[in-house]
Order: sequence, then C-alpha cells, then structure tokens
Amino acid sequence: MNKRILVTGAAGFIGSHVCERLLSQGYIVTGIDNFDPFYPRQIKEKNLAASLANPSFEFIEGDAGDTGTQDKITRIPDLVIHLAAKAGVLPSLKAPPDYIIGNILLTNKILEWMREKGIKKMIFASSSSVYGNTDVIPFREDQPVNSPFSPYAFTKRSCELMNYTYHQLYGMDIMNLRLFTVYGERQRPDLAIHKFVHLIMQKKSIHLYGDGSTSRDYTYWKDIVDGISSSLDYILAHEGVFEVINLGNNKPVKLIELVEQIAAVMNTHPDIIYEEKKPGDVDITYADISKAGKILGYEPRTSMKDGLSNFINWFKHANGEKTQ
Ligand code: NAD
Repeated sequence: MNKRILVTGAAGFIGSHVCERLLSQGYIVTGIDNFDPFYPRQIKEKNLAASLANPSFEFIEGDAGDTGTQDKITRIPDLVIHLAAKAGVLPSLKAPPDYIIGNILLTNKILEWMREKGIKKMIFASSSSVYGNTDVIPFREDQPVNSPFSPYAFTKRSCELMNYTYHQLYGMDIMNLRLFTVYGERQRPDLAIHKFVHLIMQKKSIHLYGDGSTSRDYTYWKDIVDGISSSLDYILAHEGVFEVINLGNNKPVKLIELVEQIAAVMNTHPDIIYEEKKPGDVDITYADISKAGKILGYEPRTSMKDGLSNFINWFKHANGEKTQ
C-alpha cells in the first residue's frame, strides 16, 4: 500500500513544494498549516493550490500541536515531515517566547502525539543557524554546535536535541536536516532574495546590513526537496536511524555579490544603502555536504544564475508585473 505522510507547514514555501513532490511520487499526503500571520494567508493559499487539486491530498487547517487539530488526522501517517515553525532569525530577537512555543513546544507536542499513535519516523527541518557565528568552515555535522547566535537558532538546536531524546527513549527514527538558506519560487517574502527583487521592481533602494561581506550558502528549493525526498527513501528503508545532515549548496555567496547577480539577471543597477549589521546575523554559512552525498546521494544541481532567473520569472508572474 502507498505510504501515508503527514507534512506540517504544508502551505509554506518549502512545505508546499514537498507536498507536490510527494504526491507526484504516489504518496498519500496529509498537510497541516495554521496560516501563521508571519506573512499573508493569500500567498499560502496559492502555494497549496496544486496539492489541493490532487485527490491523494488532504488538508487540515490548524495548529499542528493542538489536540483539536491532531484529532482531525484520520489517516494516521507512516512518517511525519515536520516543517512547521516560527521561521526567521532576526524576528526571533523581538519575540523569543513565540519561538520557544512555536518551535520547541510545538515539536514536543508533535513527538508526543506520534508516540501516542505509534508513529515511529520523523524528518525534521533544522537549520544552518545552529552552527552559530563560527569561522570553522565549511560546517560539518560533527563539529560542536554549542553557540547559537539567535533565539531562532537555539530553538532549532533544542529541537534537534529533543529529537535525539525521543530516538533514545522511544526508538523513533529521526533525521534532523540542517537546511541552508533556501530560495526560489514561493520563497518567503521576509528573505533577502525575495525582498531585493521586490525593491528593484519598485525602483526602490536596497538596504544592506553590514558591509556586504556576509555570505550565505543559498540553496535552490528543488535541490532541498531532492534531499528531503532522498531522506524519506532512506528513513523508510532503515531502522534505528538518528542522523543530522546538512542540505546546502557548498558555495557561499557574499551579500554584495548576491545583489550584483540579481541586478545582472534583472538588467538593472540598484541603489544600495549600507546599514549597520544586525545582532543575530552571522558572518557566513557554508555547508559541507559530503555526508549528504554519501548517505543520500545528494548533489545540488541548480546554479545561482538559473535559480535566480526562475525566482524572478515566478515573482513577476505572481505579481502580474504590477510592481514594475
Ligand atoms: P514558511 O514560513 O514558508 O513555512 C512554514 C509554515 O508553517 C507556514 O505556512 C506556517 O503558517 C506554518 N506553521 C507555523 N507554525 C505552525 C503551527 N504551529 N501549526 C501548523 N502550521 C504552522 O517557512 P519555510 O521557509 O518554508 O521553512 C520551512 C521549515 O524549514 C521551517 O521549519 C524553517 O525553520 C526551516 N528552514 C527554512 C530555511 C529557509 O531558508 N527557508 C532554512 C533553514 C530552515
């Protein structure tokens, strides 16, 4: 029988792409999302549209940690892909309790529900932010991660540790996937590439925090979804799994180079205003992806140029070019 997968955060950027991939592979998918107001509901409804058209997809609106929502899950899944979260590094400095509730407590409630229902497998979206502000690069899964640099980072690291406890105590198979700045079609509007393209389309200045030298290992969503899909194959085929795996691009790009690349694709010269670096903002993220390559056959395939072009085309289409 086809496996049943529960995806939390199904209406989000990554979650909606994951649901579509799973459905295309023949899985029976239940998606949960509470349309967190971090960004507009209409965007998330559009994200969901393709999955909703598939009869193998069921959508439940609500908080994935609430028993009222969990009671509506009638198709008990073989596996949970847990993507729902309070995302965003800088906003987490303004509301740490929201991130503790929205990430740590939420993950605990999902683990407890899984335990109660006898669900043994989970893939968890962790983050490159757990590495902190380190110059030990590229980041390897076996290096110490005891210096989270933001509330968001400590909530993701706490979840990884909690997942380990549930693996040890209750024999749950769990993969903590450390995702590195994901971009492309449907990217969250708070993230740099989305923000910069929007500003350029409106012919407004781009504000850069710091001197433009901070780097991020931007990773195209399709490569991330490939990594999640291979993780699913792996965890379904193995018992006794507890793994921490980087999913990144292994090619960090400086902030100023990012702006230049976007400008080149959009054939423009944006006005740039430099501002002070924000607390919580790390200098670099840089994934060592050799473990993902070895265990999952993971190999990012999308160049920054292609990924940016795809995003910009999508953005223009999604906004009816009205921002130009
Ligand atoms: P997103 O905000 O687009 O998606 C998250 C979704 O979860 C949203 O639709 C939101 O409404 C939903 N949600 C939040 N709390 C919920 C709850 N309690 N119950 C049900 N639904 C809830 O974010 P994204 O960029 O797609 O990120 C997905 C996951 O990947 C998150 O866990 C994020 O921390 C992680 N991640 C993302 C990136 C990135 O660059 N986008 C990098 C590292 C890790």
